[in-house]
Order: sequence, then C-alpha cells, then structure tokens
Amino acid sequence: MNDYVKALFQAYYREIQLEKLMPRDLPKRELGFILPDKKGMIRHKAFADTKDYKAFLLQNVPVHVYYSATLYNSPWKDRMDLKDYIGCDLIFDIDCDHIETPCKQEHDGWVCKGCGKKGGGKPPVACPECEGMSFDEKSWLCDKCLAKAKTETLKLVDDFLIGDFGLPPDNMDIYFSGQRGYHVHLEKEAFRRMNAEERREMADFITATGISLSSIGFLVKSPSITGFTMKDPGWRGKIAVNLLHLLDRIDIDGNVPLLAKEVQDLLRKNKEILKKRLLANDPNWSLEGIGQGYWNRILEYVVRDTKCEIDVPVTIDVHRLIRAPNTLHGKSGFINKKLKRDELDKFDPFNDAVAFKGNDERIKILNDVPRFRIEDKTYGPFKKDDIETMSLGAAVFLMCKNLGVVA
Ligand SMILES: [Zn+2]
Ligand SMILES: [Zn+2]
Repeated sequence: MNDYVKALFQAYYREIQLEKLMPRDLPKRELGFILPDKKGMIRHKAFADTKDYKAFLLQNVPVHVYYSATLYNSPWKDRMDLKDYIGCDLIFDIDCDHIETPCKQEHDGWVCKGCGKKGGGKPPVACPECEGMSFDEKSWLCDKCLAKAKTETLKLVDDFLIGDFGLPPDNMDIYFSGQRGYHVHLEKEAFRRMNAEERREMADFITATGISLSSIGFLVKSPSITGFTMKDPGWRGKIAVNLLHLLDRIDIDGNVPLLAKEVQDLLRKNKEILKKRLLANDPNWSLEGIGQGYWNRILEYVVRDTKCEIDVPVTIDVHRLIRAPNTLHGKSGFINKKLKRDELDKFDPFNDAVAFKGNDERIKILNDVPRFRIEDKTYGPFKKDDIETMSLGAAVFLMCKNLGVVA
C-alpha cells in the first residue's frame, strides 16, 4: 500500500463512527490484521471495546482487517485449544471465484510458469504446451461477475434462508465483501450452537449436494412418470416451482442457454398441459415424447439453476476469520459494507461501496488494465505507461491493485 492510499485509509478510520465499526460481541472475538510492509497476518488480537479497536486501526492502518466468526472466552490466547470456544456465527460466502461467468474469458487469464503460454479464464489443470502445472493467475472483477454474485446472494437469502428455513430477514446481516462477492451472517444463539456436521447438512441442501432424482421420489414406471408438486417440501417443491419458471422462460426468452434445443422443443410442445398440471399440483408428468432420459436432462438443468453457489468450507469451518464490518478492502479501496435485505436489490458495489469520492487525479498506469467502472464512469482499457485522469475512487482502485501511481 503506498503512502497516498495509506493516508486515505487512515482518514477513513479517523472519521468512521464507532457503532459502524463494531462487530457484535467484539471482546469475545479474535481479530487479525494484514499490515502494510509486514509479512503475514497479525493474529490473536482482542479488544475490550470499540475505542481500543479504532485506535489500533488508526495507528496501524491495516490493508485488511479480519475477525473470528467464533466467540471465545479467551480470544487473545495464541493456541486454538486455549481460546475456550463458546460458539460460532453461521456464515455463508458467495464469491465470484466460485461462479462461472462467460466474461471471465475476457478479463481473467493465466500464464504458464514453465513455457510462458497464455490463455483466458481459469488456468487448465496442465499446460497444453508443456504440461506444466504451475501458473500465474490474473483475475479481475466486473459488473457482470458481481451482478451474478448478487443474484446468487438473493437466491440464498430469499429462496433458501427465508423460503426453506423460514428465517426472518432481520436475523441476517448481508455484507458486500469489498471485492469479489457477498457474505451472509447469522448471529443468533441458535445458529451459534450448530456444530460442523449440522452446518454441512445445511450447506449440502443449499448446494444440492448428493441429490438424486430417485432419492427424492421421482418415479418412473413406464409409461407413467410421477414427478413433484409445488406443495411438496424441500427440493421436490423447489424443482416443481422452478420447472414452471423454466416453461415461462422458454416462452419469453425463446432460447434458454445451456439447455439443448431439442429438449426445449419437447418442453415447448408439452408446455400447456404440463403447466396446467403443475398449477393444479398434479404430479403426473407423463408426457408425449419425454421419457426418463429427457426428464433427467431437464431436471439436471432445473437443479443446477435452482441451487446456490455458496463456498461450502466457509460455512462448515467454525474457526475461520472473515472480513470485519465496514473496514476497507486493501485490494480495491471498497468498504466491506453491511446491508439489510431490502437494501440489496438496489445496491451497486461500484458506486455504493466506493469509500473515496473526490477530485480527479492524474495516474500513471503500471500495467495493462481491463475496462472498469467506478461510480457512473467507465475507464480503460489502459496500457502500461499511459497517463490518465480519473476520479479519486478509480485512482484508489488502481493503486490498491498496484496498477497505478499518482503521476
Ligand atoms: Zn507451459
Ligand atoms: Zn466478469
């Protein structure tokens, strides 16, 4: 982090209100920091109150700030077995890294460390040129990737946490991570008591792990096929509801990506009768031309479209450090912003999470930069050694990524 950015971060921590900075039950949590010019993470810190915590932030100006989702009686002790575990918030993480988006081919890339071969998107298992398995990876964040992450977060909150688990929206805090996704925190006592296996069961349900059609009662007794109704509990009902949505989409969009055209044509042919049965909660899914093979393909698609792409290890790990509320992300200059459910729909990370808004800066570009947007302005693509004028938020964004310096 250069001195220019450091001064801005310090000003941010000087001005922030204490209650915004306050994680619930702060004294029971372990804090971790990545500090400028220091290697590794400073861990096992604990603070009696938010004033001390804020003083630490002001004095050290961390690049990243983390806190434990876990509560301990002695969070400052440097061995996990001595910390005296009390409980752990239930956390869900939705990260662009785990979600496929077509734009990654354009803005992400890899270079083989063995032979220098380059490619777009995620690196292959082995280099097609030299079979080397070590790559330099480059990833970028764009509107489309973050929009997809938001869609997944809405799915998690509305369909699963509220819909399936019946949790009230005011039980959950949603955070924009400050860079590549969203976190959902549940901090009530009942969640904190959940053990790792119980968390895994919840995560498996949300990610549809281990679901097979026969295991949830899809019945084929040729020629009759018995499916599900929208009133059924769990995945049975979810599949029926989303099959109905699929039928509507086939009509409106004409072509649904990732579903073979022949399958769509069959569904279109049977659309009216299937819709009628779904709406009447009739599980009779015997239809002309759609045998078990086709049903498998249709329902695989529906399940893939219905499940939610959470990062499972984050949910089941009861000793994980996560980014602290309303702190700054050192790789973007964005705020780890806390949101309520009704704020999420309109939330625009490239505007609402930008911490620094102000006069234009002249920036020297240090390496190639793909297109990006900050507030209502789009910048780039830039080439190395270009000199560009941009808003303070855009300048900080590039400086945090070591892609620019004040000219
Ligand atoms: Zn290679
Ligand atoms: Zn993208």
